[in-house]
Amino acid sequence: MVMSLAQERKAKAVLEKITKVDDKTWLLPSKSDDSKMHTVQSIKNEYECDCLGFIHTLNCYHIIAVKMFETKNHKGYQEWRDTTMKRYEELAKANIKQKEIKGLSNDPAWTE
Ligand SMILES: [Zn+2]
Repeated sequence: MVMSLAQERKAKAVLEKITKVDDKTWLLPSKSDDSKMHTVQSIKNEYECDCLGFIHTLNCYHIIAVKMFETKNHKGYQEWRDTTMKRYEELAKANIKQKEIKGLSNDPAWTE
């Protein structure tokens, strides 16, 4: 899973609004519409979300927010972040998927 700084910012913006339903389910409001909720679920140690961003890319800021939420001391999160950011930079450098990453930032689903 890769992420961008923009996604990390959005994740931080919804971090305070996460509702933990049970050990494997979290509810988050949609950033564009507070009346809409997204559900993140932990399934076999992988996170899944019901938003369009996740459906299209298997990656969204809701999951990033849940990971931040779950790592209250931020130690594990920092480690995870370093790994994913490194991967993101490698992809960008290698120009692999760069077109795809650019395309995503213009996708309305991405900013939902
Ligand atoms: Zn999502």
